[in-house]
Amino acid sequence: MYRLLLIAGLLVLFYYLLRRVINKINERGGVLSRSEVHAQGSQMVQDPVCRVFIPRASAVCEEIGGQTYFFCSTGCAKVFQNQLSH
Ligand SMILES: [Zn+2]
Repeated sequence: MYRLLLIAGLLVLFYYLLRRVINKINERGGVLSRSEVHAQGSQMVQDPVCRVFIPRASAVCEEIGGQTYFFCSTGCAKVFQNQLSH
């Protein structure tokens, strides 16, 4: 009988530990979704030349033919301008 009580106690303890672990995982998930929202706020743009994604804030911005393009470097911007002029 004493043993049964001990096992029941252990099960309750295990249950609480499991709940704490699940709560921690849920908290991490929350942080993840928050950083995803942040990533959307700091928008990623694609370089049309080398197809690399760069954050809009650090991209090279060029206005060509009334349209704004974003490049990873001034080199790619020049390549794009050359492609257009041909
Ligand atoms: Zn590039």
